[in-house]
Amino acid sequence: MNSDKIGLMGGTFNPIHYGHLVAAEEARHQFNLDQVIFIPSGYPPHRTPRSVIPAEDRYIMTALAIATNPYFNISRIEIERPGPSYTIDTVRAFREMYPDSQLFFITGLDAILEILTWRDPYELVKLAHFIAVTRPGYNAECLKNLDREILDNVSLLEIPGYAISSTLIRERVAQGKPIRYMVPEPVEAYIRKHGLYRQ
Ligand code: ATP
Ligand code: MG
Repeated sequence: MNSDKIGLMGGTFNPIHYGHLVAAEEARHQFNLDQVIFIPSGYPPHRTPRSVIPAEDRYIMTALAIATNPYFNISRIEIERPGPSYTIDTVRAFREMYPDSQLFFITGLDAILEILTWRDPYELVKLAHFIAVTRPGYNAECLKNLDREILDNVSLLEIPGYAISSTLIRERVAQGKPIRYMVPEPVEAYIRKHGLYRQ
């Protein structure tokens, strides 16, 4: 598909939850994106904390979660690439695959605040415009600490706040608490069927 405006939604998605989905849908709507591509990160065995389950399970849950949205797609690019997943490598690859498209990279405020710790942040924000969505617990004030070169390529997008995280979902599963209405039903079913996040 050769879309004009492509949103990229990177994450560990361990597991995917409604916070991710509402962020992507709001970005799609507000920025008139033709599609949003979800990109689950790879699983480099030597450097991955034990709480991160294998990429294939995270990929399947992400695919289940987006199945009903005609604008949402999924990419295996980070899963197939050996070694740790660097966003810059992913965005460069999309730039090559879609030379005529406008690329947008969607993150939460917590993630954008760490952008200077990412690989090649200044090149990154030139290859893709960043959409930073609000997230409960993170203040837009902090954006002021980023320099002009970054900020010129970042748009803040206010979205309905979902105070949930993958960490919270994993903890709730381990504690036997419900996660219904926090993740899509097929994602919960997959977690239960495969006994994920139990210990
Ligand atoms: P974890 O607790 O394991 O870090 P997470 O919920 O933060 O998981 P990630 O996979 O780390 O999920 O996040 C992927 C992207 O989605 C990041 O840019 C993050 O900021 C954003 N995001 C995650 N949850 C929310 C939320 N509830 N509201 C807005 N953005 C979110
Ligand atoms: Mg996170």
